[in-house]
Amino acid sequence: MMRQLFCLSLLLIFSYSPLKAQRQYDTLVTQLLRTGLGQGEAFPMLMELTSKAGHRLSGSEGAQKAVELTLRMMKERGFDNVHLEKVMVPRWVRGSVEEAAVVVPEYWPWSLDVCALGGTVGTPETGTEGAVIEVKSFEELRGRASEAKGKIVFFNRAFDPTHLSTFTAYGGAVDQRARGAIEAAKVGAVAVLVRSMTLTIDEVPHTGAMNYEEGVPKIPAAAISTRGAEQISEFLADGLELRIKLFLSAETLPDIPSFNVVGDLTGSEFPSEIIVVGGHLDSWDKGSGAHDDGAGCVQAIEALNLIKKLGLRPNRTIRAVMFMNEENGLRGGKQYVVAPERKGEKHIAALESDRGGFAPRGISVQADSAVLAKILRWQQLFARLNAGDIGMGYSGVDISPLVDKGTPGFGLDVENHRYFDYHHSDNDTIDKVNARELELGAIVEALLVYLIAEEGM
Ligand SMILES: [Zn+2]
Repeated sequence: MMRQLFCLSLLLIFSYSPLKAQRQYDTLVTQLLRTGLGQGEAFPMLMELTSKAGHRLSGSEGAQKAVELTLRMMKERGFDNVHLEKVMVPRWVRGSVEEAAVVVPEYWPWSLDVCALGGTVGTPETGTEGAVIEVKSFEELRGRASEAKGKIVFFNRAFDPTHLSTFTAYGGAVDQRARGAIEAAKVGAVAVLVRSMTLTIDEVPHTGAMNYEEGVPKIPAAAISTRGAEQISEFLADGLELRIKLFLSAETLPDIPSFNVVGDLTGSEFPSEIIVVGGHLDSWDKGSGAHDDGAGCVQAIEALNLIKKLGLRPNRTIRAVMFMNEENGLRGGKQYVVAPERKGEKHIAALESDRGGFAPRGISVQADSAVLAKILRWQQLFARLNAGDIGMGYSGVDISPLVDKGTPGFGLDVENHRYFDYHHSDNDTIDKVNARELELGAIVEALLVYLIAEEGM
C-alpha cells in the first residue's frame, strides 16, 4: 500500500507521459501477453539448450555447444549484429571420482552423498581421511582451533527458514561454501564437508564456487547432501566418534578460450545507446542448468524476439547478451565492458534474469532514486503482469561490471521459494521449469527494455 501511495504521488510529480503513450503501452502489454503466452519460444529454446548442450561449465564441450546454439537462435530470429566476443575462461574439471564414506565406526561403513565444490583440489588417490568436527560458524571454528587440527571440518549451518526471501537465507549460509576451506586450513584441517545450500532435506548434494587464499594450504572441499548432514550431526550429537574418508578427482587445467554471445535489435534513433538484457550461459556441471541460468539466457533472446514479432523497432538498441563464466570467474561479465566492440557505445541500462525461470513478481533496481522513480511511473503496466513489485535491490552478477561503471542495473525478481531446491545440483533440469512462468519472465523483460528503449533512462 505504501508503495502504491508512493507511486501515485510520483505519478503526480512527474507528469512525463502523455495519455496517448500510456494507452500505447497498455496495448503493448496486451500484445506481449497474447504473443508470448500464445506462441512463446522461451521454453522450446530452453528445451533445446538443455538437451543439446546439457550442463555447460566454462571450458567444457557443453559450454561450447551452448555458444553455438544461442548464436544460431539469435541469427535464426533475425537479430542484428549477432556475433561472438572472445573471453579466456578458467577450466576446472570434476573428474570421475567424488566419494565419501564413514569409515569409523568400522562396524557400520556408510557412504555419503557428496560432490566436489567448484574449484577444489582433488584428494590423493588414496583419499583424505580424518575424524569429523562439526561447526556452525568460522567463529566457532576459531574457538575450537586446537580440536580441528588434522580433522575434516564439517560446516553445518543450515539456511535460516524464517527469511521470506530464500536468497537472504542463502546469503546467510554461503560463506561456509565460499571460505570454508580457507578458514579450516588455517587451523590445520585436512578437508572440509559443507552442508548443501538448500532448504530442502534430500539426498542431492549442491555444488558451487569455493575459494582458496594465497599462503593458506589448499585442502579438498566437498558438499554433502542435507540429509547426510543431518545424519552426521545426529550421530556426533550422540557422542559417536566418526572418521570420514574422502576421494575427489577434481583438478584445475589451464585457461581456455570461450565466448560471450551477443545479438541486437538496432535502435532507429539512437543506435549507440544500448540496453542490455542477459543471463549467463555457463552452468555448474550438475543437472542441466535449466533454471540457473538457461532460463535467463532464453528469456533474453525471447525478449528481443517478442519485440521483433510485434513489428516494433526500438528507438535505442536492445541487446541480448549470453555471458560466459558467471559461476566460477565472471570473466564474461568483466570482458564485456572492456571488449573492443564497446567503442562508441553508451550503455544506458542493463537487465539480468538469474534467479530461476519462475513466475515474475517485479524488478529490483540497482541505481539511484531518480532511476527508481522513472521505473515506478510504469508500475501499473508491470502490475498487469503480476510483476509490479518494483524497488531498490540487487540486479545481477554478470551485469555488475556495467553497474560498477554507472549503468543502471535491473534484476528480474521472481517467485523464489523453490529456486534453491534445484540450484547447482542434479535437480536443476527442464522438468522443473514451467513454460508459462518462464515466458512471463521474458514478457516482463521485453516490456522493461522496450520502455527504456523508447523513453530513455
Ligand atoms: Zn546463476
